[in-house]
Amino acid sequence: MDTTGNLPHDIVNAIQSVAGNGPLALHEPRFNGNEWVYLKECLDSTFVSSVGKFVDRFESDLASFTGARRAVAVVNGTAALHVALRLAGVQAGDEVLLPALTFIATANAVAYCQATPNFVDSEERSLGMDAVALRDYLSNAAEIRNYQCINRNTGRVIRAMVPMHTFGHPVDIEALLAVAHDFHLQLIEDAAESLGSTVGGQHTGTFGLIGTLSFNGNKTITTGGGGAILTNDVELGKRAKHITTTAKLPHRWDFVHDEVGYNYRLPNLNAALGCAQLEQLPGFLRDKRLLFERYQAAFANVRGVRLVAEPAGCSSNYWLQTLLLDELLADQRDAVLIATNDAGLMTRPVWALMNRLPMYASAPKAPLPVAESLARRVINIPSSSGLGSVAP
Ligand SMILES: *Cc1c(COP(=O)(O)O)cnc(C)c1O
Repeated sequence: MDTTGNLPHDIVNAIQSVAGNGPLALHEPRFNGNEWVYLKECLDSTFVSSVGKFVDRFESDLASFTGARRAVAVVNGTAALHVALRLAGVQAGDEVLLPALTFIATANAVAYCQATPNFVDSEERSLGMDAVALRDYLSNAAEIRNYQCINRNTGRVIRAMVPMHTFGHPVDIEALLAVAHDFHLQLIEDAAESLGSTVGGQHTGTFGLIGTLSFNGNKTITTGGGGAILTNDVELGKRAKHITTTAKLPHRWDFVHDEVGYNYRLPNLNAALGCAQLEQLPGFLRDKRLLFERYQAAFANVRGVRLVAEPAGCSSNYWLQTLLLDELLADQRDAVLIATNDAGLMTRPVWALMNRLPMYASAPKAPLPVAESLARRVINIPSSSGLGSVAP
């Protein structure tokens, strides 16, 4: 493609050359499998609610797909994060390290535990938490006392870190695990966006103590709403199931609960959708990778912008295709958003940084130069897997 030096115009053309004239959504679900069959089975059996064979099957299918020893289905990804933090021992008054560049759920889950987020920077390569900057930050701001990481400035315990695999691109999880080890931190992976993404062949969400998934309507597969907790610790998996199902002790008729649990159960109807969607996941992943390759070819000659590619040694699910404007062209971001959306091509900037939101503005944070820069330069473009399966 010849570029005209008119960036918004060139971007509209590049998207249309791959995905057609639109209108195009940012990310549409696809229901071409056994969804109707399994939903009908639910209705016919009357098991539509929080008990049923599809819940069990979805959990075991998720465990086999991800390689986690245990998967527990829950009502959404935010609930999965909340329970993950509880199970990791996050208590009122603790701090939890998380990227400033994330979706609100990551920070809110920390607040639900009456803990405080402590925001850290991202790296441009993966868009996720920067392990080198994090180690620097902790080396200055924290000290180890009695095997606990204490924030010198606030006096609070930093209990855990929650890296997130942004738009499906795996974060440098091995380096983060090393930091977690050295500073006595639990590591929980927010893998809400990275179902199907792997690092050295191992599924994201299975490296830390616990990983969490989301099956919201805009994610790679959807159950309408839903989420899951992944863990390789079988005892922790049992605890996760227990406290997400009201902490009821099993009995033929007695209602006895042994702690304050949550009703975070995923209904059988939603799990039925999940089983049908998981069957199609390999095809979705193939199509999303094809879409990336076609966008990459189309954008190769557009100056001033590049497409974010999977980090070396990783396989990304390419959940959301991501344009990164050159730093010098960041001031054209809004013009690009206007031109594309006016043309019926749904595009979006990245989330406002968490530390800019009123409820988290006074939370502790590291210097955030890269996150600040990325927040000005990221644009997500139409990413539905169906676009990858259409002949160019
Ligand atoms: C989608 C998402 C979640 C969970 O969202 P739910 O809508 O509660 O399922 C959590 N973290 C990130 C980064 C997400 O993108």
